[in-house]
Amino acid sequence: MSISVQTLSGVGDQVAQLLARLSIHDVSDLLFHLPRGYEDRSRIVAMSELKVGQSALIEGVVQSVEPLSAARGSRTSLLVQISDGERRMTLRFFQVYPGLKEKMQVGRLLRAFGEVRMGARGLEISHPDIQVVSVGAPLPPSRLTAIYPTTEGLSQTKLRSLVDQVINKSQVELTELLPVSVIPHNGYSLRQALREVHQPANVADTEALMSYRHPAQIRLIFEELVAHQASLLSRRYYMQIKPAPGVAQSQILAPQLLAQLPFKPTRAQIRVSDEIRQDLQQSKPMLRLVQGDVGSGKTLVAALAACHLLEAGWQVALVAPTEILAEQHFINFSHWFEPLGIQIAWLAGKQKGKARLIAEADVATGAAQLVIGTHALFQDSVQFYKLGLVIIDEQHRFGVDQRLALREKGAAGMSPHQLVMTATPIPRTLTMSVYGDLDTSVIDELPPGRTSITTVAVPFERREEVIARISANCGQGKQAYWVCTLVEESETLDAKAAEATYEELSTRLPHLKIGLVHGRMKSDEKQQVMQAFKKNELHLLIATTVIEVGVDVPNASLMIIENAERLGLSQLHQLRGRVGRGSTASFCVLMYKSPLSENGVERLSTLRNSTDGFVIAEKDLELRGPGEILGTRQTGLLGFRLVQLQRDQHLLPEAQKIAAKMLKHHPIESEKLMTRWLPSAPRYARV
Ligand code: ADP
Ligand code: MG
Repeated sequence: MSISVQTLSGVGDQVAQLLARLSIHDVSDLLFHLPRGYEDRSRIVAMSELKVGQSALIEGVVQSVEPLSAARGSRTSLLVQISDGERRMTLRFFQVYPGLKEKMQVGRLLRAFGEVRMGARGLEISHPDIQVVSVGAPLPPSRLTAIYPTTEGLSQTKLRSLVDQVINKSQVELTELLPVSVIPHNGYSLRQALREVHQPANVADTEALMSYRHPAQIRLIFEELVAHQASLLSRRYYMQIKPAPGVAQSQILAPQLLAQLPFKPTRAQIRVSDEIRQDLQQSKPMLRLVQGDVGSGKTLVAALAACHLLEAGWQVALVAPTEILAEQHFINFSHWFEPLGIQIAWLAGKQKGKARLIAEADVATGAAQLVIGTHALFQDSVQFYKLGLVIIDEQHRFGVDQRLALREKGAAGMSPHQLVMTATPIPRTLTMSVYGDLDTSVIDELPPGRTSITTVAVPFERREEVIARISANCGQGKQAYWVCTLVEESETLDAKAAEATYEELSTRLPHLKIGLVHGRMKSDEKQQVMQAFKKNELHLLIATTVIEVGVDVPNASLMIIENAERLGLSQLHQLRGRVGRGSTASFCVLMYKSPLSENGVERLSTLRNSTDGFVIAEKDLELRGPGEILGTRQTGLLGFRLVQLQRDQHLLPEAQKIAAKMLKHHPIESEKLMTRWLPSAPRYARV
């Protein structure tokens, strides 16, 4: 039974609207609006231990009281200096209410509670809660106060009072949804756990609660993880309702393709290709994620997968997030498949008019067996004749809705197989929580003969030396990239920066042939420059991060990245992966603007010390969090209430197991569990 929040005292239309912004409509939603932290008023913190941003209780003796007249108008504020014998800090009152001045007398002992900020005179607290005390006055009994995520206009006190009205209401339905066998996990029922988390008992284990290790919290964190896993798995079931074409192993194309190559596949490429082949033999859609470090050879694995479908008469689509990457694939696949008699179509957003119509017609009639392109492939006007396999490169740039759209492009009553490839490794925690609906294969080996890359970080002040180095290196026939990054996600500004650098270096290094490529150029212009660089007709390529993925020029051995401190580790690793592909020793220069933040120092040194994409990805997760790594498209999935992935990852495997069991044996409870924790996530019907 649902009970509207309007039934609570103190909730009229206005408050109800504010609550709705937090997705709280029903009183039980209020119970699942969980604290993001706690205030601890049971402990006095020494001023020397205070951290900016912390809400803390301090105690000290008033040293001075200074009324401050506001610049205009008559209102005054009050600045109070207090000292705990070791340090001093400021209490700032913007409103001098009656009685305040009487309390604030030099020599009085005060307790003040509030959020610590850095002010002009050092640490300060603005309008703290204050209490005049005598020396050694007892502290209140140990009790933490919840701090809730909130919205403008809705105070913590209000939220607390609303939760307080609901928490003890027995009419509020709180059904246990987890199977009985997993609930006793630690002895807390759902109601007990919620009560403890919202209003910790006086005797609560403060430390455990503050660090979210309290059994009541773990009980809820686990339930939330199960709900998320159930949601991912139900998506998987949904993707697999319709059958896919089960095809036999390629007898002709795959061996021919391998025979043409100047190299042998690595053991890892063979192993992953076998895993894919086994999936493709089933009449259930494959849902597989292939992870591999930069340069591990994912493209060949994708091509081998395509062979099985193509040989059985099905179409294969390959989608890439940028035109440059899609073009690289188009060139590679044309090179590999045209000699084998396979027709390839190209579909990109900028393609218009007749060329587009012809491409779409070839896709619709089946004249083109292999279709390569960008987002354009998702459009309604693109109808396939007999689509059997979709390969998505660099999955994190796409959303789940796009994978769902491609599912609809299969032949009547069928779904295509899905092969999803990442550009860089993703930490295991994130794989399980974002791609939990996919099986995973890892290419954990690089092709032989790769040269090592030496990475150095240099401050912007040494730019001249870097230019001299390019001049010398390129003079000896080596090739180099210079990547300009101004502001992430702003291709326009980046393009301007690249143009300026191009002008500058062209003038200063007249003996070098220099090219420019950025995302705002026409696609044939881009392609011409890329081809010229690939053919070694250019020494130096000035680029934006458009060259981040897929670009493969083995002779390039020097990579300069400007403003490296602004980019994420995985992105830097990806850019660095453009060199070290040939036989010459390679260098990567990370140029930064000083001073570097602590985090910046740690990031650049991680990159200097490791070239292992998996190690780097874990570090990136630690330093920047999941949202930054996966991009906004995927983070919608990570709207956790209590869960924090790095902290709670040890619970994931078990949560996944329970979720699978629940979906199978308790579909109704699973559904309710997902509604409880993920009210706004899409639901996938199972029929
Ligand atoms: P990524 O995994 O980053 O997509 P690519 O598929 O682009 O890597 O492969 C990187 C380079 O390695 C390409 O030039 C490719 O031809 C080459 N390559 C792939 N597999 C092998 C192999 N087994 N032996 C040698 N070179 C390989
Ligand atoms: Mg690739």
